[in-house]
Amino acid sequence: MILRSSFTKITQVERVVRHFSSTTRRERERLVILGSGWGGYEVLRKIDKKRWNVTMVSPNNYFNFTPLLAGCATGTLEFRCAIEPVRRFAPRVNAYSAWCDSIDFKNKVLHCMPATPPFPHASPSDTFNAINEDKEAQRPGDGPSFTVRYDKLVIAVGAYSQTFNIPGVKEHAHFLKDVRDARAIRSRIYECFEQANQPVLSDIQRRNLLNFCVVGGGPTGVEFAAELHDLLHAEMARHYPNLARLSKITLYDVAPSILGMFDEGLVKYTENSLKREGISILTSHHVEKVEAGKLFVKEQGEVPFGLLVWSTGLAPNPLINSITEFKKDRSQRSILTDAHLNVLKLDGTPNPDIWAIGDSATIEDAPLPATAQVANQKAKYLGKKLNKIVKDQEHKEPFAFHNQGSLAYIGNWKAIYERPEGKEKGQPFSQEYGRVAWLLWRSAYFTMTLSVRNKILVPFYWFLTWIFGRDITRF
Ligand SMILES: Cc1cc2nc3c(=O)[nH]c(=O)nc-3n(C[C@H](O)[C@H](O)[C@H](O)COP(=O)(O)OP(=O)(O)OC[C@H]3O[C@@H](n4cnc5c(N)ncnc54)[C@H](O)[C@@H]3O)c2cc1C
Repeated sequence: MILRSSFTKITQVERVVRHFSSTTRRERERLVILGSGWGGYEVLRKIDKKRWNVTMVSPNNYFNFTPLLAGCATGTLEFRCAIEPVRRFAPRVNAYSAWCDSIDFKNKVLHCMPATPPFPHASPSDTFNAINEDKEAQRPGDGPSFTVRYDKLVIAVGAYSQTFNIPGVKEHAHFLKDVRDARAIRSRIYECFEQANQPVLSDIQRRNLLNFCVVGGGPTGVEFAAELHDLLHAEMARHYPNLARLSKITLYDVAPSILGMFDEGLVKYTENSLKREGISILTSHHVEKVEAGKLFVKEQGEVPFGLLVWSTGLAPNPLINSITEFKKDRSQRSILTDAHLNVLKLDGTPNPDIWAIGDSATIEDAPLPATAQVANQKAKYLGKKLNKIVKDQEHKEPFAFHNQGSLAYIGNWKAIYERPEGKEKGQPFSQEYGRVAWLLWRSAYFTMTLSVRNKILVPFYWFLTWIFGRDITRF
């Protein structure tokens, strides 16, 4: 079991790799899943781990339950409620906390970079093969990278946050894609209040610090603004009464209205409801530049803020950018697949060993929205397919999407719900708003919560928040 014949000295890292390698696993086909999000994690859950030799490569050793992140960022829920560990499936699954940087499709090799801090005793030229026992190194040393071989590959690396190259956004705005972002946002909200509470500040400085700006009027931006409103009007109003009245939430969007994918009536209802709660909605507004604590809006000029949350859609993942062997959609954000989710080569034929799902994939001529619902349904379908493939059984049915509808929390125990297909078929609950929709929202996400632990934790924290309020300590 020699990793590199040229290595006379076996590094400590290699010893660890050797320890994790398993000869029995090599006999089974190697399935590698890239990404532990809605797509990748669901495939991991569904896959027959006894028949496949499964490896997951993802910088996170957890799955983010994204619909609950806005609640976590504002203290409605604890962070643990919105994550599930990948290692739940160890030792049956190899899992590497790493980025896949590039893919050599010809040789079926992934080049990966650890997402952990640099190893204390590794020399910079240590390049090694993580799960194979090949004698030669796969990529000569330009860093502590490693390679992973696959027989079958699932690409589910999602997408990045879109900034439209607006200067200063990456440096000064908060994104909300990961539980770490939620933690940073929560900490910043409480920091703003503590800063504003310092006796040396003028009321103008306090107002500036307590100006919370959200850019992007899609469901994520609206839900965050709504959850923030609940926090400011409940706990902050109680514990910082003089400061809460100086606080303000503004929601910006370049489009003429928010929540573009929802029915016009529901959008009007949401806009009126948010405005009534004191949230300013500035549509048709263009952010041109961001500096520390300052937003430059074409229609308004300079706008000071304490917290800026940026949620203006999706940009391509760099790994997807680096792939030139497959067809992509017009925005280049996602790889095109056929209806069986196999990636399409440039000549339009499917690659039988590679599938792509989630936000980084689109079915050619049948695009679906970039949502958890779509990623999850594709992953379930693919899990089933792979479990048949490993048993040499046929799985001929193409993927079919079943639209369960769209939901958005809009604050103050209200939500909106829409299921266009249901409306067309005259089904009940095709459109709901207010408390009924809020109940649907909570039941939907409670039902979708994956582990038994979180099925207990999520309602428990909702209940705790209802009885005792949100925790507003900052540590
Ligand atoms: C705050 C928020 C709320 C949302 N709410 C809803 C909702 O209520 N309903 C809904 O349907 N959708 C919702 N969405 C959208 C939904 O979360 C996404 O559509 C979904 O996460 C897409 O799944 P995915 O698996 O493609 O990508 P992701 O879930 O983003 O997962 C991508 C994974 O790939 C990993 N990765 C990235 N690059 C690499 C690499 N180079 N190598 C290896 N791994 C990599 C990432 O770390 C991550 O684990 C929400 C999104 C956000 C951000």
